[in-house]
Amino acid sequence: MSLISVRELEKTYAMGDVGVSALRGITLDIDPGEFVTVVGPSGSGKSTFMHILGCLDRPTKGAYLLEGRDVSQLSSDELAWVRNQKIGFVFQSFNLLPRTSALDNVELPLLYGPEKLSRAKRREKSLGAIEVVGLGNRAHHYPSQLSGGQQQRVAIARALMNSPAILLADEPTGNLDSNTSVEIMELFQRLSRGRGLTVVLITHERVIADYGTRTIEFTDGLVVADSSMATVQ
Ligand code: ADP
Ligand code: MG
Repeated sequence: MSLISVRELEKTYAMGDVGVSALRGITLDIDPGEFVTVVGPSGSGKSTFMHILGCLDRPTKGAYLLEGRDVSQLSSDELAWVRNQKIGFVFQSFNLLPRTSALDNVELPLLYGPEKLSRAKRREKSLGAIEVVGLGNRAHHYPSQLSGGQQQRVAIARALMNSPAILLADEPTGNLDSNTSVEIMELFQRLSRGRGLTVVLITHERVIADYGTRTIEFTDGLVVADSSMATVQ
C-alpha cells in the first residue's frame, strides 16, 4: 500500500471574485521509504501541495489518502491529531523558539502529544534525537548561539520526536550557504536510508532536488515530470 496517494488533487484560493488555481489536478503515489524531492519555479504550487500533504490545509477537489485513509474530509481536530502523530515539518526559517535551549526546542512536540511521558523519559528522547543530528555538544545552546545549519539540525531533530511516518521539508536549505546546504541534504539522506523515513522535500534548486531518490517537477500546478515514470509526460 502507498503511504501517500493523491488523485486529481486541486486547490483554488479565493481572491475576491476570482480564484487562483494553485494545483490543477495532481495524481501520484508515494511509497514508504522514498526520498521524494519536488522541484519547480516559484508559484508552481509546491508549498500548497506540502500544506495539503501535511494536513495544514484541505484540497478544493480530489482525494488524499494517507496510509489508505481519506484525510481530505476530516474535521480540524482530526487533522490536528494526524499532523501531530504522522508528520514532521521542517521549514526554511527553522521556526525555533528563541529563548529556549536547543534541547527544550526538540522536546516541545512531546508536551503536546497524547502520551504523557515522565520528565526523565522526555529528556532521554530529546537527547537521543539531538545526537542523531550531530548536535549532542550543543544541546544547551540557545538558537542565537547556533549557526543556521545547526539551527536547521535542531528543527530536524524536533520534527523526528513523534516518530513521524513522513518528514515534510519546504525549502529547508533556502537560508543556508551551499556548503551547509550539502550537509543538511546529506542528513536527510542518512535519515531516509538509515531509518527508512519517508521524506518529501521541496526546493526550487535542481542541485538540491538531485539528493532525492525520486524527483517530481511541478509547473503551474501540474506534474510535468516524475523520475519514477518510465516515460516523461
Ligand atoms: P510555490 O511554493 O511553488 O512557490 P505556492 O504553492 O506558494 O507555490 O503558490 C502557488 C500559487 O498559489 C501562486 O500563484 C500563489 O500566489 C498562490 N497562493 C499561494 N498561497 C495563497 C493564498 N494563501 N492565497 C491566495 N493565493 C495563494
Ligand atoms: Mg513555496
